[in-house]
Amino acid sequence: MSTNGHVSNGKATKAVDPWNTRLNTSLKEDDPEIYELVQKEMYRQYSCLELIASENFTSRAVMEANGSALTNKYSEGLPGARYYGGNEFIDQVEEVCRARALQAFGLDSSKWGVNVQSYSGSTANFSAYTALIQPHDRLMGLDLSCGGHLTHGFYTPKKKVSSSAIYFESFPYKVDMKTGLLDYDKLEENARVFRPKLLICGASAYPRDWDYARLRKIADESGAYLLMDMAHISGLVAAQEQNNPFDYCDVVTTTTHKTLRGPRAGLIFFRRAPKGEKHSDLEDRINQAVFPGNQGGPHNNTIAAVAVSLRQVADPSWREYAKQVRANVRALAENLKKHGYKIVTDGSENHLILLDLRPLNLTGSKMEKICDFANITLNKNTVHGDQSALTPGGVRIGAPALTSRSFKEADFEQVGEFLHRAVQLALELQKNAKLIKDFVVACEKSQELAQLRKEVEAFATSFPMPGFDPSALDASISHH
Ligand SMILES: *Cc1c(COP(=O)(O)O)cnc(C)c1O
Repeated sequence: MSTNGHVSNGKATKAVDPWNTRLNTSLKEDDPEIYELVQKEMYRQYSCLELIASENFTSRAVMEANGSALTNKYSEGLPGARYYGGNEFIDQVEEVCRARALQAFGLDSSKWGVNVQSYSGSTANFSAYTALIQPHDRLMGLDLSCGGHLTHGFYTPKKKVSSSAIYFESFPYKVDMKTGLLDYDKLEENARVFRPKLLICGASAYPRDWDYARLRKIADESGAYLLMDMAHISGLVAAQEQNNPFDYCDVVTTTTHKTLRGPRAGLIFFRRAPKGEKHSDLEDRINQAVFPGNQGGPHNNTIAAVAVSLRQVADPSWREYAKQVRANVRALAENLKKHGYKIVTDGSENHLILLDLRPLNLTGSKMEKICDFANITLNKNTVHGDQSALTPGGVRIGAPALTSRSFKEADFEQVGEFLHRAVQLALELQKNAKLIKDFVVACEKSQELAQLRKEVEAFATSFPMPGFDPSALDASISHH
């Protein structure tokens, strides 16, 4: 170390220029403002019950790779065919990542390939659509209000919201309004009229598994590609804890930061075939849609981190994690049902449940708010049949993050008890505070809510924290 904080390899004899002196200082020294916010966010993650179904806690090794010097490198193109020099190690990182992605999902490299460069799930989807269909071609995806994702063609009467609705003609399918289960018959009927070129399955808030054989049949009738966006459930798919989309789909996309527990990114899997056969052109079309179609330089730090997380997914212990996620969700669902609550589809086959609050006359917005005050993090969510997307009738609750903190079934029963108290308190408080702004004031004043928060914090901080050591956080942060 030199006196100004620059790292020396013991050989450096040149002086550091004044405009470069900050390049080796820590975040804490260089930018105390951002440093403090990062510390606060770490404490929030540690001291709250994280129930957002799309989130997880990634590992320390993943964060190390993600924060590494690989962020410095440009490598447009693919391994062995780059537009820049100096990529001998970057090529190896991407090769390792691709091999591990295939391995994690048990795929044969003669039948499947993967592009690992997408920056996120949304861009992975748009690249896949760009590869598969032409502008103004027709696509069908699960409606947002039924648990589908924005990128599956979302539009409103006033606005084509997602680029998947702007550049393509979108017609959504829905769940059955009584059961909450996907209405395959109606989808089939509508597909016969609409004749999509692309049928998209996958969701962000659907508690049941997918019938890929049925979807394949529906897609084939229209000569459509079948794409599964397994963003939410990919960690369970890798563990063979869900049906296997690779048996029937042409293309499979996923995020890497949800149940898969990696850094934030996207993957696109595509079928491979010998020249002249169906699917033989998919690889080029997908790769070119990612770059140069929709992106520039890959985020190599992220690709390295994805590789690290996929190695963990390939480990036998991953199946235990995935099984525990499902067992935890079931335990929570049973607990809430015991208290008389309504769960959409009356249960769950995956990592999440939807709690239908409409029978209680409580909105999802108020439930999300009161839970925030109680150190419980979850999100409001539309429940099928909601009149307005502005006042969603439920909340979405997922188990992946807390299962990464070693929560078991009994712990999720305790989570259910906390949620029960939050609901009961919300019903009490809203008697004199109908408007959300009045409700927030009532929450701020409630002694009972403050007490619940204390208990939740004590409970949450008694569990291990993945990725970082909470005892190493600045003392001032935890005594806010
Ligand atoms: C989360 C999600 C995405 C988008 O991923 P981002 O990384 O947020 O862009 C796409 N599809 C589904 C089904 C998702 O749940």
